[in-house]
Amino acid sequence: MKWKINIHEEHCTGCLICQMICSLANDGCFYPSHSLIKVQNDENDAHFRIELDNNCNNCGLCASYCTSKALLNEKR
Ligand code: SF4
Ligand code: SF4
Repeated sequence: MKWKINIHEEHCTGCLICQMICSLANDGCFYPSHSLIKVQNDENDAHFRIELDNNCNNCGLCASYCTSKALLNEKR
């Protein structure tokens, strides 16, 4: 099933579990920079910025593993 990933940056803790699981699923390794989701610290307001790469396949794994509800799966 494909999912729409709803992003709620205000809940993000910066744990990077989403990047770890995405890189494992898509590249076979725990390597956050190979992830199709990017989480970056915003120097201006201490929040985290979250962006999905255009190549994201909407598998929904990142949202499944985000325990902070910063990423939520929605049926497409
Ligand atoms: S989106 Fe969720 S899993 Fe990803 S860094 Fe933020 S809190 Fe962690
Ligand atoms: S939905 Fe996209 S960003 Fe999330 S784990 Fe799947 S491919 Fe990666």
